[in-house]
Amino acid sequence: MESLTDKQLRRSFVNCSRGEAAGLSLPRNFADLPWPDLEFLGWRDPKAPLRGYLVVPRDDGYVGVALRAAESRMSSRTAAMCLLCQTEQSGDAISLFTARRTGAAGRNGNTVGTYICADLACAARVRTEIPAWLRTLDPEEVVRERTAELRERVDGFLAAVERD
Ligand SMILES: [Zn+2]
Repeated sequence: MESLTDKQLRRSFVNCSRGEAAGLSLPRNFADLPWPDLEFLGWRDPKAPLRGYLVVPRDDGYVGVALRAAESRMSSRTAAMCLLCQTEQSGDAISLFTARRTGAAGRNGNTVGTYICADLACAARVRTEIPAWLRTLDPEEVVRERTAELRERVDGFLAAVERD
């Protein structure tokens, strides 16, 4: 994705109030993020431990979604999978996140939930954590496919958040 300004980022949020978007904390390394290597920007709020955010580029601009992580965590002794980047990790590295839906559904308290890497760094993980069974293939091809699949899955999640 292309780099975003603070203002563009805050304006992109579709499922929280303007006040909440104005008050959220940017990623700590916002000034030097590896933008070209991001299918979307995901981060946990450095000042509000259970809050997380996704900002996804689309043809018509950016869509930001505010997330809330579940307070209970899975055990580090069990394996779990992120449903966006499909990386298998120990349970405590994956969180259940819920997003308030947009429109009337959201006003009625409806949310959408999914299991995502707790640090929301899926874009880095599809490039660096290649499952063993894919390591015999052309690395560039593997990353190209994994990033394309990541885009599809995050678009699917956004569609569920924005469904009327
Ligand atoms: Zn992930």
